[in-house]
Amino acid sequence: MLNKKTPVMNEPTYRDTLYTVDKRGNRRWVYCDIIKGKFYYWRAIVAYGLVVFYLALPWLGLVRLDFGERKFVFFGGVFWSDDTIFLALIFGGLAIALFFFTALIGRVWCGWACPETVFLEFVYRPIERLIEGNAAKRRKLDLQPWSLQKIAKKLLKHGLFAFVTWIIATSTLAYFTGPERVLEMITDWPWKNPIPFMWNIAILGVFAFQFGWFREQFCTVLCPYARFQSVLMDSHSLVVGYDSRRGEPRGKLRGRKKKDPAQGDCVDCGLCVRVCPTGIDIRNGIQLECISCCTCIDACDSIMDSIGKPRGLIRYSTEEGLSGNKVKILRPRVAVYGVLLFLFVGIFGYLLVHRELSEFQVLRGALDKPFEVLPDGAITNHLHIRISNKSDAPHKYTFYVPGESSIQAILPLNPFPVSPGKVETAPLFISFPRKILSGGTKKITIEMRSEDGFRASQEVTLLGPER
Ligand code: SF4
Ligand code: SF4
Repeated sequence: MLNKKTPVMNEPTYRDTLYTVDKRGNRRWVYCDIIKGKFYYWRAIVAYGLVVFYLALPWLGLVRLDFGERKFVFFGGVFWSDDTIFLALIFGGLAIALFFFTALIGRVWCGWACPETVFLEFVYRPIERLIEGNAAKRRKLDLQPWSLQKIAKKLLKHGLFAFVTWIIATSTLAYFTGPERVLEMITDWPWKNPIPFMWNIAILGVFAFQFGWFREQFCTVLCPYARFQSVLMDSHSLVVGYDSRRGEPRGKLRGRKKKDPAQGDCVDCGLCVRVCPTGIDIRNGIQLECISCCTCIDACDSIMDSIGKPRGLIRYSTEEGLSGNKVKILRPRVAVYGVLLFLFVGIFGYLLVHRELSEFQVLRGALDKPFEVLPDGAITNHLHIRISNKSDAPHKYTFYVPGESSIQAILPLNPFPVSPGKVETAPLFISFPRKILSGGTKKITIEMRSEDGFRASQEVTLLGPER
C-alpha cells in the first residue's frame, strides 16, 4: 500500500516512473500489509533456514575467510592464495548458474534467497509489525506529530533492529576472524580490538540504513542483478504474473451480476497492491520492481477462495503461458548456459578430487653455469626446489633420487620443513659421477616423500660435459 495514489493501468507515465517515487522525485514510503498463504509459509521455511545456516557456518568452523593468512576454508577443504583456479571456477560457476537459473526460473533468487529479501521480510519487518502494528497503523504513526509514544515505539524498534544486526554482524565477523577470536573480542573492551569493533559499527550502520530506511530502493535503484536480469530472461522464463485474459475487465464485487460472462475474475480489491513489498500493481504487467516474492499470489488466492473462484489469477507462469501460448522450457540460451554450468561444475569437481595438498617443482639454477666439475671429477648441478604445503598442518619433506646410489640430492635441510599454507624455495645440489652421463645429459627422477607417506616425483635432466 502506498501513502499516495497508486498509478493505475494504462496511466501514461506508467513505464517511465518508479512506483515509489512521486512526480516531484520524493520517496513514497511502502506500507505493505502481510498475508500468510501457502507461498508465505514456504518462503518462511527457506528464509529462516538460510538465516540459521548463515549464522551457524562460521561458528561450526565450516567456512572461514582468513585474509591475513590468505587461507580460505570451505566445508573442510582448505584453499590458499595460490589456489586461484578454484576461486576463478567458483566465481565463474556462480555467474553461469545465475544466468542459467534466471533464464529458467526468473527472479526466484530475489524473492526467496537474496539476503535483502530474507532479512527485510523475515527479520526486520516482523519486528516492525510487532511494535508499530499493521500497515494502516504504521502509516498513521508516521503521519502523527512526534509524541512520547511515537518516540518510544521508534526507539524500541530501532533498538531491536540494532540488537538483531549486532548478532548478524558478530557472525559475519566470525567468517573472517574465526569463532574463538570473535568470542575474545566481544568479551573484551572495544579499544583493545579497534579494527573489528569498527567493522561491527560499520555493519550496524549499513544495516540500519538498508533495513531501517533504504529497503526496496536497493532492488529498484541499486541492485546490478535487477538491472541485467531482463537481458537474461525471455518470454518463456518463469515470472509471477497476472492473468489479464481471465481477470479483465476487472470490477468491484458490489453491483456485479452473479454470473456475468463479460466480467473478469478480478474484483479490484487492491489486496495484491497493498501486500506488495515494492509497492507495484502486478496487474500492470511484468515490471522491473517485481522481485517474484509471490506475496500477491497468496493475496489473490485468498480473495479467489472467498468469492468461490479458482485460485491462480495471479500465479507463477511465463509471459507466453499468460498469453495462452505454449511454453518452451528448453531453449537455446537455457541449453548453452546449462552446458557451460555443467562444464564449470565438472572441471571444479575433477580438480578438487585430484588436488594434491603437497607439491614440488624443480627449477634450474644459474642458467649461465648449468653444471660444475669438482676437483675430484664429480659433477654438480645447481637447481632450485619449490615446495608448497597446501594442507592445514606442518609437514617435513624428504628428497632423494630413487635407484641411483651414486647420485646424491643435497639440500640445506633434508627433510625440509614447510608450514601450513606456505610455499618455500630451497637450493638443491645434485652431485653425480661423470660416467653416468651419455652425450652430456642424464635423465633422472627426483622423489619427494612427506612424513605422512605422501609421495610425488618429477623428472629432471642432469647436465655435464659432453666428453
Ligand atoms: S508484484 Fe507480487 S511478486 Fe512482484 S514484488 Fe510485488 S508482491 Fe512480490
Ligand atoms: S488481489 Fe486479485 S482480485 Fe484483488 S485486485 Fe489483485 S488481482 Fe484483482
